[in-house]
Amino acid sequence: MVDLRSDTVTRPGAAMLAAMMSAETGDDVYGDDPTVNALEAEAARLSGKQAALFLPTGTQANLVALLSHCERGDEYIVGQLAHNYKYEAGGAAVLGSIQPQPILAAADGSLPLDVVASVIKPDDAHFARSTLLSLENTHNGKVLPLAYLKDAFAFTREHQLALHIDGARIFNAVVELDVTLEAIARYCDSLTICLSKGLGAPVGSLLCGSEDYIKRARRWRKMTGGGMRQAGILAAAGLYAFQHNIARLKEDHDNARWLAEQLKAIGVDVRRQDTNMVFVRLADHQTEPLKQYMHQRGIIISTGAVTRLVTHLDVDRHALEELVRHWQAFLAI
Ligand SMILES: *Cc1c(COP(=O)(O)O)cnc(C)c1O
Repeated sequence: MVDLRSDTVTRPGAAMLAAMMSAETGDDVYGDDPTVNALEAEAARLSGKQAALFLPTGTQANLVALLSHCERGDEYIVGQLAHNYKYEAGGAAVLGSIQPQPILAAADGSLPLDVVASVIKPDDAHFARSTLLSLENTHNGKVLPLAYLKDAFAFTREHQLALHIDGARIFNAVVELDVTLEAIARYCDSLTICLSKGLGAPVGSLLCGSEDYIKRARRWRKMTGGGMRQAGILAAAGLYAFQHNIARLKEDHDNARWLAEQLKAIGVDVRRQDTNMVFVRLADHQTEPLKQYMHQRGIIISTGAVTRLVTHLDVDRHALEELVRHWQAFLAI
């Protein structure tokens, strides 16, 4: 089956599995796993931060990131459609007593700084304390412009806010802008990275930040049940992904661009394509039949009010050619 629902569906290939099989391990809660230590050191080096922490999931990485920035009764300013507002079961509020202040993102995925300024609460007993701005990069495939990040970072210094970037897909931004990770990460205090999306590892995320910050995060990771033991088996997949699967993300973007053009050419209402994501609009009566039609032909897509097609390392050009061919046949029925 070819699966275009998300880049989370990527599976570890033979070479990655071999790296996992031969990983040197130890007890990471004691700090003794050399492979985890190597992965954390590599994430710190790539991001230009002092330290990094390996966590099981991106959701936990974001939760630990927020818990390490904010106290009970603080608030974070965040996008209305951001993962760490909408898609993490309210974890910051439930487990951290951290109040979200959601605002609408602009069309380019940024949070307009004049709107951010307007929701920062004055120091007054009525209000929660505004202490953090949380951005997402990429946001639904959109790369935040570097000039915006630079302004946002300066803005947060002026307003005594910390700046967190949910960079689940930050390497898609890196290859799209053709810059280093450090060139983006210099404009934040903390950054999360998912290894289990386009980078193709089965499990794992990283949180990057200062030495002190990561020390606090390590305690929160333990408290939230994310301290793993011989996690080097998993970290080895992450190291492999850093070495082999970053530059190739460009192929995913090229494939998504190609797919958007081909679908347009056969009359599909393509709304936009950004990095590895293509968004199309289907007529209501098409959503279920198209999904089933594709499924019968070995292609999994999720269709609905928004239909999103995501390219990744387990989808090659040939598979996309088949998708377009079947789509055209479907439209001719
Ligand atoms: C996938 C994702 C996460 C984390 O997801 P997990 O499934 O918990 O690893 C966080 N933020 C964004 C923007 C994501 O797309």
